[in-house]
Amino acid sequence: MLDQAERPASIERYSMFIDGQEVQDASGRTIESLNPYSGKPWALVPDGSEADVDRAVRAARHAFDKGPWGQMTATQRGALLRKLGDIIARDAEELATIESRDNGKLYREMLGQWKYIPEWFYYYAGMADKLQGDTIPSDRPNFFIYTRREPIGVVGAITPWNSPMLLLTFKLAPGLAAGCTFVVKPSEHTPVSTLELAKRIQEAGFPAGVFNVVTGMGKIGAALVSHPDVDKIAFTGATETGKVIAAAAAKNLTRVSLELGGKSPNIVFDDADLDVAANGAIAGIFGATGQTCMAGSRLLVQESVHDRLLERIVERTKQIRLGDPMHEDTEMGPVSNEPQLRKVLEYIDVARADGATCAYGGGLDPTLGGYFVQPTIFSNVTNDMRIAREEVFGPILSVIKFKDEDDAVEIANDTRFGLAAAVWTQNVHRAHRVAHRLRAGTVWVNAYRVVSFAAPFGGFKESGLGRENGMDSIREFTETKSVYVELSGAPRDPFKL
Ligand code: NAD
Repeated sequence: MLDQAERPASIERYSMFIDGQEVQDASGRTIESLNPYSGKPWALVPDGSEADVDRAVRAARHAFDKGPWGQMTATQRGALLRKLGDIIARDAEELATIESRDNGKLYREMLGQWKYIPEWFYYYAGMADKLQGDTIPSDRPNFFIYTRREPIGVVGAITPWNSPMLLLTFKLAPGLAAGCTFVVKPSEHTPVSTLELAKRIQEAGFPAGVFNVVTGMGKIGAALVSHPDVDKIAFTGATETGKVIAAAAAKNLTRVSLELGGKSPNIVFDDADLDVAANGAIAGIFGATGQTCMAGSRLLVQESVHDRLLERIVERTKQIRLGDPMHEDTEMGPVSNEPQLRKVLEYIDVARADGATCAYGGGLDPTLGGYFVQPTIFSNVTNDMRIAREEVFGPILSVIKFKDEDDAVEIANDTRFGLAAAVWTQNVHRAHRVAHRLRAGTVWVNAYRVVSFAAPFGGFKESGLGRENGMDSIREFTETKSVYVELSGAPRDPFKL
């Protein structure tokens, strides 16, 4: 593990990755990738152009239509995925260091992620050669009908800055298993880990053109979305960007899957174990500095236990250790980038102006400064306040009181989002009853912020379209084809269906 003090003195320069080659943008323009802890640039990546997108899409198209990739059996693809998983496991520490430096998340969290990422490649490697069609019982005499699951084609993957590689893996592992090729546009704030992955994909032996990376700003993503040779866009990012992408993709009827924002309710009933629930509330909003799509940003607490729970949460929050993300004992790192810092601080002002009470925090950390915001708790929040309705994507908790189960469900579902939710109760009937009534793609019972390669993840309502992870997500990367085979060989009436 590298300490921040051992940060390389020189800035590392990266290239894009197209058709198996490292490529600089022809213009020579670059983007600086800043380390949010030091506030200083540590890497330079090309500021790609639309011509680079076109080149990468053509490479991915060629690899899909004419390259050796299309000739490989599903079992051979599975073997490559397993090899990639092994390489990532081997390099997990190095990759976690890079990603922590790029987005300021705790090294220990990133290391946990990188050690877990290979499991996605192993899981979908096993699925590659089990992706089978059906034989269809024919209602027509003399017909044998079957279906094939074919890869959807060239996938444009556009990713955010908060967990760049995990969120790319959600797309890449099933997509490669299905036989697709990729052009990836990582966030301009955190491009490096995707470029490092490209090297490992090459080392694993994937043919040139199967995996391409174009770096740059949002307009590069937009060029990818509207490129006529892209068959599917797999996007993770903000809901507003997702809507722009869906509208642009509609022009060519490019398929889209969208993993978007949230305002997830974390619901604590009066029969919950309050110590465990307090811990879960903290994990839900201050883990990863609140910069997760599934953050439990609305804490809904039953009136009778409200004050007791709030007190426990405030006490624990006071002890949260802010600091260098690379240090083992740090619990909360900085906000990831400058625009995000401004947004978080603005929402603190909005909450105050709307009449919420700041129970803890409420500004920049006085000792660390820089991009460090205090973990912040607002009580006396009502669900109509902006702080309860809009995604902040930072360490700001809104605490809202409720009376009973119906009231809790109504407040929880009164949002345009539907990504995740949690229920804290020791009553097994209530746990399932409420879980079923919540309009969210993931519900945890007495837990928060757990994901698995095996369980579908995605949003109801404006939190997204489609699902990632689990057996079904591989279907998002395939088209179904029905094949009708006439068995008699006799001529048929040409004017009869
Ligand atoms: P963002 O939408 O600003 O950017 C995401 C990516 O889209 C970046 O690579 C960006 O360059 C690109 N982009 C921007 N404009 C584009 C356009 N017009 N066309 C195509 N691409 C464009 O999101 P962000 O700030 O990087 O990430 C934070 C957001 O991501 C939050 O809203 C969060 O909830 C969401 N998120 C969702 C999930 C999930 O699984 N549901 C996971 C993580 C993050």
